[in-house]
Amino acid sequence: MTPYLRGLEAFTDVQRLIVIAAHPDDLETMCGGTVYQLAQRGVEIFSVNCTLGDIGAQDAALSRLELANIRQRETETAARILNLRQTFNLGRPDGELVPDLALRAEIAHLYRRTQADTLFTFDPYWAGQIHPDHRAAGQAALDAYMPSKMPLYRPEQLNEAGAGRGCLARVFLFSPGAEANVVVDVTAVYPQKIAASMAHVSQFPEGEASLDWLKAIDTGIGEKIGVPYAEQFKQMNVW
Ligand SMILES: [Zn+2]
Repeated sequence: MTPYLRGLEAFTDVQRLIVIAAHPDDLETMCGGTVYQLAQRGVEIFSVNCTLGDIGAQDAALSRLELANIRQRETETAARILNLRQTFNLGRPDGELVPDLALRAEIAHLYRRTQADTLFTFDPYWAGQIHPDHRAAGQAALDAYMPSKMPLYRPEQLNEAGAGRGCLARVFLFSPGAEANVVVDVTAVYPQKIAASMAHVSQFPEGEASLDWLKAIDTGIGEKIGVPYAEQFKQMNVW
C-alpha cells in the first residue's frame, strides 16, 4: 500500500526558506516548482550555491572565470523568475566540493544571517547520488544545522546586526530516491519551473528541448499522486 504522502501542506508554517545547493541550476531543476509556489505565498527564499559551477561545459572554449560569470548572471535571471529574495554563492571550485569545517561555518553563518526557519538541501545519504558536489552540499548543510544554534560556536557571527542563533525548525531533502514522504503537485507552475531552468542557457542551450530528462523525472514523480508533474522531498525528523 502506498504510504500517505503530504503535498504543499507540509510547508504550511514556512516563512523563511534557505535552499543549499551545489551548482547554479540545482534549485531550479530539483525543486523550482515548489519554491515558486512558496514564493507566491509570500515565503522569503534565500538560495545558496556552494560552487561556481565553473566546469559545467562540454567543451573548453570558455575559461572557468568566464563560465562562472555567465552562470552567476543566469542564477540572477532565474531568481527573478522564481521571486527569490536573495542569492549567495560560496565560491568553491566546481567538482571539488568537500563538506569541511570551513564550509560548515559559512553555511551556519547564513542560517544565522537569514534567520531561515526551513532548509531544503540535497539528500547526502541517497545511494544513487552520483555527483560528489551534491552529496557534499547536503552533508555540509546538515552538519551546519546544530552548531548554528549554539551560541559558543563561532560567536563572532552573532555580533552582526540582524544575526541571531540558527532557528531552523524543519529540514526537507530533495533527490531523496524512493524514500520521499512529501510529493508536491507542481503542474500549475510548471511553465515557471521550465522558464527558470531555461534561464541557465549555458547548461540548456537547446532551450526546452534540453529539458526532456527533467520532464521525464517530474512526470515519474507525478505518477505517484496522479498529476502530470510533481517534485518530491524527504522531511527529516530533526529533534
Ligand atoms: Zn548540480
